[in-house]
Amino acid sequence: MKLVTYVLGGDVRLGAVEGASIIDLNRAYASLQRNGGNPAAQASTDAVVPTDVVKFLALGDRALDAAREAVGYANSLDPDRARRSLTTVSVEDVELLPPVPNPPKIICVARNYAEHAREAGLQISEIPIVFARFADTLVADGGAVIRPIVSEQLDWEGELAVIVGKRGRHIAREVAMDHIAGYSIFNDVTVRDYQFRVTQYTSGKNFAASGPFGPYLVLKDEVPDPHNLEITTEVNGVVKQRGNTSDMIYDLPTILEHISEWIAIEPGDVIATGTPSGVGFKRDPPEFLRPGDEVAVTVSLLGTLTNPVRAEEDSRR
Ligand code: MG
Repeated sequence: MKLVTYVLGGDVRLGAVEGASIIDLNRAYASLQRNGGNPAAQASTDAVVPTDVVKFLALGDRALDAAREAVGYANSLDPDRARRSLTTVSVEDVELLPPVPNPPKIICVARNYAEHAREAGLQISEIPIVFARFADTLVADGGAVIRPIVSEQLDWEGELAVIVGKRGRHIAREVAMDHIAGYSIFNDVTVRDYQFRVTQYTSGKNFAASGPFGPYLVLKDEVPDPHNLEITTEVNGVVKQRGNTSDMIYDLPTILEHISEWIAIEPGDVIATGTPSGVGFKRDPPEFLRPGDEVAVTVSLLGTLTNPVRAEEDSRR
């Protein structure tokens, strides 16, 4: 199942994508409950299929089982009736948000591909190097990445994103994969001069509208081997990065084991797992994203995350 969070008529909803349609999981499950004669259909639905994806993930298998039931039921409905009741909507009619619009944490892994560390002239570390991103840097699929007025060094980084499904602290690598709900695509867009002018990554990695994330949260049952996924980044249709998650230095259990040494991972947390080689700033000559460009990251089984680049409006006095 591929989950999306979307806005329709001012409401934020959680849906499952089926081709060009989205099934509203909460509406479909409530309709199923009403059909079954449940007098408190909406209340029992809200308790098991909430419209907030973080709350949904926190309910674990209970919510996932109910969501699967809801999808089966929605697919059995007369298509016209399903559309009239907004149980099924067209992808084109909604505004997609990031698949987790407001994650409790976003943790990014640096230098997780040897070839990328080499091109950047940086050492490979024995311990994963991580940094934090703020949720309000996130951009949905189709949303604009903003090229800031203070820098021209806006660079792409296509990455596999992990979405946590189960809380854990001091997670052993043998059980680490049980804590993952699913996967998505992240473009860890970076302002290079701000990244390297001091020793901390915070500013260079947290410019406004610099974190494309999406389009879907693909649940892990659709991704049998996350350590063998192709990652491709294109700018204006030209391939700039081509890598495979099989080349990650720290695999997913190592990353989860490391992070959970120092903080609990929680449902809805997002982990961007690092980028392969081919970023812009080490090209000869260096290349950066400019207003009018389109940047697209494709990861096998997870779809394509496409974003236009726009210039920041100058609001300085
Ligand atoms: Mg990165």
